[in-house]
Amino acid sequence: MSAMFDLTGSSAIVTGASTGLGRGMSLALASAGADVLLVDYVSCADVAAEVQRLGRKGVPFTADLSQMSSIPRVCDAALAAFGKIDILINNAGIIRRAPAIEFTEKDWDDVLAINSKTVFFLSQAAARDMMKRRYGKIINVASLLAFQGGIIVPSYSASKGAVAQVTKALANEWAASGISVNAIAPGYMATNNTKALREDPVRSKAILDRIPAGRWGTPEDLQGAAVFLASHGSDYVNGHVLVVDGGWMAR
Ligand code: NAD
Repeated sequence: MSAMFDLTGSSAIVTGASTGLGRGMSLALASAGADVLLVDYVSCADVAAEVQRLGRKGVPFTADLSQMSSIPRVCDAALAAFGKIDILINNAGIIRRAPAIEFTEKDWDDVLAINSKTVFFLSQAAARDMMKRRYGKIINVASLLAFQGGIIVPSYSASKGAVAQVTKALANEWAASGISVNAIAPGYMATNNTKALREDPVRSKAILDRIPAGRWGTPEDLQGAAVFLASHGSDYVNGHVLVVDGGWMAR
C-alpha cells in the first residue's frame, strides 16, 4: 500500500514555499520522494537545504506571483531543473483585513491577483506539460472562506471562493487527460497569515472555542492531505475540496 503514496521520481512546484503551509507541504512531498521547485518572492534557500537533507532536489526560485510574467518563468525553471512537472501546489496567498465599507480597490486587486488569477494561469501553464504525459496533480490551497463569508476579509473570501470553483472547473476539463485537480481547505492554522487573529484575545478565543480539536492547526497537519492528493492514492479524486480544519466545518 505504501507504494501508492510514494512520490519517488516525481517533480513538484510549490508556490509560497518559504514558510508556513507551503514550507510544510514542500517537506511532505520531499519526504515522500519528490524533487521540489520552491517558488516565492522571498528566499527559499533554507527550505531548499531542508529538502536536500531529505535526499531530494530542492531548487529555490524567486518570483513575484502577483505578476503574470512570472508564470512562464516558473514552469521553465521547473522544466530546466527536472524535465517535467508532475505536481503543482498553488499555495502562495495573501490576506488584507478591513471593513467592507472602507475596503480599497488595491486590497481587492492585490488579493484576487495572487490568490485566484495566478492559481488559474499557473495551473494552465503546468497542465500544458502534464498533458504531454497524460498525468498530473494540481492542488490548490483554498480556505474555510471558500464556504463562509469571513469577517473583514471580503477580497480574501471572494478569492478563495474562486479557488474552489476554479478547482472544479479545471477538474471537469482535465480529469480525462489524467490530471487530477483538487483543493485543500485548511482551517485556522498557526502561520503568519493568522498572526493578527492569534494576537487578538477576543477573536483568538472565539476561534478556539469553535474548533472541536481544541487547537490551532499546524503546517504538519496538512502534510498527509498534500501527499495523498499528490499521489496515485487519489487518482480517482477530482474536483474535491478537502477540508483539514480540526472539525470547524462540522460544528
Ligand atoms: P504565510 O503568509 O505564512 O505564507 C504565504 C506564502 O506566500 C509566503 O511564503 C509568502 O512569501 C508567499 N507569497 C505571498 N505573496 C507572494 C507573491 N506575490 N509571490 C510569491 N510568493 C508570495 O501564510 P500560510 O498560512 O502559510 O498560507 C499559505 C496558503 O494557505 C495561503 O493561500 C493562505 O490563504 C492559505 N490558508 C491559510 C490558512 C491559515 O490559517 N494559515 C487558512 C486557510 C488558507
